[in-house]
Amino acid sequence: MWHHPATQGNIATLQQRGHHLIPVGIGELASGLSGEGRMAEPEDIARYVGSALSPRYDLAGKSILITAGPTYEPIDPVRFIGNRSSGKMGVALAHAAAARGAQVTLILGPSSQPVHSNINLIRVETAREMHAVAQAHWPSQHAAILSAAVADYRPEFSFAEKIKKKGDASMTLELVQNPDIAAALGESKTARQLLIGFALETSDAEANALQKLHRKNFDCIVLNSMADPGAGFNTDTNKVTLFFKNNKRADFKLKAKQEVAEDILNALLELFNQSPLTP
Ligand code: C5P
Repeated sequence: MWHHPATQGNIATLQQRGHHLIPVGIGELASGLSGEGRMAEPEDIARYVGSALSPRYDLAGKSILITAGPTYEPIDPVRFIGNRSSGKMGVALAHAAAARGAQVTLILGPSSQPVHSNINLIRVETAREMHAVAQAHWPSQHAAILSAAVADYRPEFSFAEKIKKKGDASMTLELVQNPDIAAALGESKTARQLLIGFALETSDAEANALQKLHRKNFDCIVLNSMADPGAGFNTDTNKVTLFFKNNKRADFKLKAKQEVAEDILNALLELFNQSPLTP
């Protein structure tokens, strides 16, 4: 019913007249089929109404791609190489951007964070899956925020059967490099698109972040402090510094990840406003 041309035509007319659309839910339908067309969850309707009435509906009309969480690189059916990323920062960004009116596509690695149903959520496991999904969506987006902690290397082979312990005292795992999603999006970025990346550094933090900003063609890079307790992976708070292409920087104090998300989105909004080309 949702995809019927008559329904879609009526929706388009309402949107042209300035009505806001609360996205439909996705899942099991009354017809027994599954797909788009469920009534949005009541709490999402409340959230939409709240944000539409608030003055901060400032990302309406923008489509934003967000990567978040770790990636898991399989060794065998039960083991993997991963990292301690929780996905909290990226999910907070997705929720905050949607509340400010953006159409959000979230590509999320293995993470237990709950995600609101107004987000176009695509779950992935490996860096290569995240890369393929990000590449497919990027051309249609106004901006991307890459907060995922992507594994730089994966085992060359993933064993079909669980590896058994043999008599050997050691074993060697050959690793090969994963695609750099950020660099790939940076390379194909058009003059109308904006790209924000993250950096988590343990030494020469500023110099490394600035180098990444330029090498990956970011418009802004978010440097996570590793020095401060309560910042970085798997915490509810974060302390960041933003570096911009035009050599500007902005330092923020330790705050809740939801508030950090608002600071990053404020920076994105400023970049949109500065760019004569972004629609
Ligand atoms: O090079 P490094 O991993 O420190 O770069 C961090 C930034 O690049 C983050 O925005 C991260 O999401 C992104 N990245 C990526 N794909 C990779 C590695 C990093 O998108 N394979």
